[in-house]
Amino acid sequence: MPMPTPQPGIMEIDLYQGGDSSVPGVADVVKLSSNENPLGPPPSAVEAARRAAADMHLYPSTDHRSLREAIAETYDLDPDRIVCGVGSDEILHLLAQAFAGPGDEVLHTEHGFLMYPIVARAAGATPVQAPEAMRRVDVAALLDRATDATALTFVANPANPTGTTISAQDINRLANGLPGLLVLDGAYAEYAEDAALKLAEARDDVVVTRTFSKAYGLGGMRVGWAYGPRAVIDVLNRIRGPFNLSTVALAAAEAAVRDRDRLRETVETNARLRSELTRGLVGLGLEVDQSEANFVLARFASEAEAAACDAHLRSLGVIVRHPRAYGFPEGLRITVGDEEGVRRVLDGIASFRAAQEAAA
Ligand SMILES: *Cc1c(COP(=O)(O)O)cnc(C)c1O
Repeated sequence: MPMPTPQPGIMEIDLYQGGDSSVPGVADVVKLSSNENPLGPPPSAVEAARRAAADMHLYPSTDHRSLREAIAETYDLDPDRIVCGVGSDEILHLLAQAFAGPGDEVLHTEHGFLMYPIVARAAGATPVQAPEAMRRVDVAALLDRATDATALTFVANPANPTGTTISAQDINRLANGLPGLLVLDGAYAEYAEDAALKLAEARDDVVVTRTFSKAYGLGGMRVGWAYGPRAVIDVLNRIRGPFNLSTVALAAAEAAVRDRDRLRETVETNARLRSELTRGLVGLGLEVDQSEANFVLARFASEAEAAACDAHLRSLGVIVRHPRAYGFPEGLRITVGDEEGVRRVLDGIASFRAAQEAAA
């Protein structure tokens, strides 16, 4: 029997690699590889999830009304222009499935999030990369790569894995100049100034995606959402699973978005410890751009040096991300941990440097 043939493009997808969470033989591990919230989940969300678990025999809400209204109140939005997904990853997939197909191009930047080419290929479309300028989204380069075939453009702001941002003005230029739908991925928007929702409010060709996985501390619950034109939200609602979000996940996310104190604490702690981490890394001779997110990208002299430092950190139970697949073989992306996490990664790199000097 011949092997069933998948749709064109699917076998060209490189399997997405998440951040590791364990090191064989090392018990005391700090995970700084997936940009999770080092404070843990909001206690309010854990409590709401526990209560909701008593109803797990019932199908969940299909319209997510209660969560959409909580999001709309919090961000001053129209609840009818919100759609919720299984992480923002699901929404990226739905956008590609709905708006891009064979013959269409999906534009993203050189060091953009790896899900963009994955969702493009899954939909049979062709991913197209625009170069970045000094590890920053380059508006002119994106506009230059756009063609009549450009159906979708994905831009993360702040960007992952660089942590850099572009201005509201630049985003406006993109929206004005690009054909098709512009998707502004706001996975880290809570940590920075965010003009994207305002822009989406005013336009019929811009969608903003957001997530509960990062600043809201609910990566394991898998909840994301998007804000966009009514017509686009209507399309996504037609193709998403009617029960895509569980009762427990919906309850946790609603509690988290209403817990403004917890978000403030997360953002303030992150800003303080990010400065400390950045200063420490620069002091150890690494190149680090100003990050507006909950991670920093540290650049070494070479790929070999980054790999050696990564291995040394792992031996100490410190797991960071070596972003080779993002075009940074010489880099390590380090999530801003709690006080102890920041201390352990800086101590680990310091001992790596000391060993290097001893060997030289
Ligand atoms: C983490 C991340 C996401 C989405 O994560 P979900 O958990 O699926 O919501 C989206 N975009 C970027 C750039 C990210 O780093």
